[in-house]
Amino acid sequence: MSKLSRPPQGESLGLTNCPTCKFLCHLEQGNCPRCGQAVQSRDRTSVQKSWALLITAAILLFPANLYPITIMTSQGQVRQDTIFSGINHLVHLDLLPIAIILFTASILVPMLKIFGLALYLTAISYRLPISKRTLMAGFHIIEWIGRWSMLDLFVISITAALINMGQIWDAKPAPAATAFALVILLTQLAAKVLDTRLLWDRLESKDDTN
Ligand SMILES: [Zn+2]
Repeated sequence: MSKLSRPPQGESLGLTNCPTCKFLCHLEQGNCPRCGQAVQSRDRTSVQKSWALLITAAILLFPANLYPITIMTSQGQVRQDTIFSGINHLVHLDLLPIAIILFTASILVPMLKIFGLALYLTAISYRLPISKRTLMAGFHIIEWIGRWSMLDLFVISITAALINMGQIWDAKPAPAATAFALVILLTQLAAKVLDTRLLWDRLESKDDTN
């Protein structure tokens, strides 16, 4: 790409946006003249913070999937379900559409989010030889999945409401529900704290020939 086709970056001009009020600040000022917030061109600790949140989320996936997520009681009968056995149960009850939604919301979406973010962070941290095209596609997929993150909570609340409406079973969240809610929250935070400009820097750096 020629020099002419690329406009100057804020960082090279010594300018950046205030992270709080978006006021355009000079980097040498150190603090935003409007709201006083400390300004820096890139939040380089954001990669570490994002990794920490993502690794915690990945570890919590184990208790979220291995322990029961719901305890249902009916006339002294107790039924405990993990995410997977719950989906299996729905398939046996011929409720395939609900089973597919539950599988997508509670297994596929969290896994894809964790995998996608891990790939992203690895690409930023270790400058992996992954093509720009793949990274861009990955970014759009994560963005797209992000819009569906509330689906997990939505499905859980709908399922609980449906069960309680029947009045036959009394549904209560089991230990895995806490772990699952934390997985959702931590993956959201991991994506939120990441300064994505670090990735664009890598894509625009001259030594990156991929
Ligand atoms: Zn400000």
